[in-house]
Amino acid sequence: MRSDIVKELKSVTAEGNIRTREDMGKHTTFRTGGCADVFVTPQSVTEAADIVRLLLAREAKYMVIGNGSNLLVSDNGYSGCIVCMGSAVGDITVSGNVITAGAGALLSKVANAAYESGLTGLEFASGIPGTLGGAVVMNAGAYGSEMKDVITSVTMLDADNGQTVIFTGEDMKFGYRTSIVKNHPLIVLEAQITLDEGNKEEIKERMDELARRRKEKQPLEFPSAGSTFKRPEGYFAGKLIEDAGLKGFSVGGAEVSEKHCGFVVNKGGATASDIIELIKKVRLTVNEKFGVLLEPEVVILGEDIDK
Ligand SMILES: Cc1cc2nc3c(=O)[nH]c(=O)nc-3n(C[C@H](O)[C@H](O)[C@H](O)COP(=O)(O)OP(=O)(O)OC[C@H]3O[C@@H](n4cnc5c(N)ncnc54)[C@H](O)[C@@H]3O)c2cc1C
Repeated sequence: MRSDIVKELKSVTAEGNIRTREDMGKHTTFRTGGCADVFVTPQSVTEAADIVRLLLAREAKYMVIGNGSNLLVSDNGYSGCIVCMGSAVGDITVSGNVITAGAGALLSKVANAAYESGLTGLEFASGIPGTLGGAVVMNAGAYGSEMKDVITSVTMLDADNGQTVIFTGEDMKFGYRTSIVKNHPLIVLEAQITLDEGNKEEIKERMDELARRRKEKQPLEFPSAGSTFKRPEGYFAGKLIEDAGLKGFSVGGAEVSEKHCGFVVNKGGATASDIIELIKKVRLTVNEKFGVLLEPEVVILGEDIDK
C-alpha cells in the first residue's frame, strides 16, 4: 500500500491508531492469517466515516471488519487497509425500548444492555462473538432468531459516493446469513434495535441457558470462526460432514471438530492454508458423497476456494 496513504491517514486519526504490517491472526478468532499492509482502528463513528472517505478518495484498497469472528485472512495477507470497528466505535444508548449502538459494539455488550434495561428479544445474540456491524452484515442468528427480527434502522456510509444513508430493517434485505451489505459497497456505522419489555429474571435465565447449550455443543475451547459452512437447504452441514466420515479429519493444525463437525477449529499452529485446504477437502468429499456443495459462511480474504 502506498506510503502517502499512511501519511494522509494521520490527518484523520491519531498516529497510534495506525499500524503497518499488522498480524491479522491477532484480529481474527481463527487466530491465524497473514499481515494487513495497514490496520486502522477509528476512535469514533465520525472518524470511521472520515477514514473510509479518505480511502475512497485515494482509490485505496480497503476492507472494514469487526471482531474478525467470521473471517479468515490468507497467509499472504491483505495488501490494503483494514479498518477495524472496535469498542471505540461501540457506544450503546438505550431509550425506551430502542437501543442505538455503534458498529463496533460487541453483541454480548448490546445484549447485556438490553438485559439491564429489561428488554427482551436479543437474548439469542448474547453468545455470538461478533460486533453489531458484523452481525448486521451477516444477519447473524441463533436458536431460531436473527438480527432481521430486531434491527429497525441502520446508518451506513455509501462507499459509492461517501454519503451517509439510513436504511430501515426492510431496506437491509436480510436473508439467511446475508444482507444488502454483502452485495453493495456499504459500511455499517450504527444501528438501532427495537425490543419488547420483558422480565429481567427471565431474560437472564434465557441468556444463561443459551450459553450452557453453546458450551455443551460447540468447541469453544479452540479458535474457530463458528459454523464454517452455511446450512444447505434441507440438510445440516455438520451432519453431512460427519456422515461423510470427516469427523476429526485434519490438515496441519486445522481439524473438523470432533465435538461439532460444522466447526473447523485451529487445534494449534494452523495456518490459513491448512484451514483453506481442509475446507476444500470437506466440500469435495461432501459433494462427491451426497451431491451437496457446501457454501462457506466464513468470509475468506485473499483466496478463492472454488479454485
Ligand atoms: C465460537 C463462535 C460462535 C459463533 N456463533 C454464531 C452464531 O450462533 N450465529 C451466527 O450468525 N454467527 C456465529 N458466529 C460467527 C460470527 O460471530 C458472526 O458472523 C458475527 O456476526 C461476525 O461479526 P464480526 O464483527 O466478528 O464480523 P467480522 O468477522 O469482522 O466480519 C464479517 C464480515 O462483515 C463485514 N463487516 C464487519 N463489520 C462491518 C461494518 N461495520 N461495515 C461493513 N462491513 C462489515 C466484514 O467485511 C466481513 O465481510 C460464531 C463465531 C464463533 C467464533
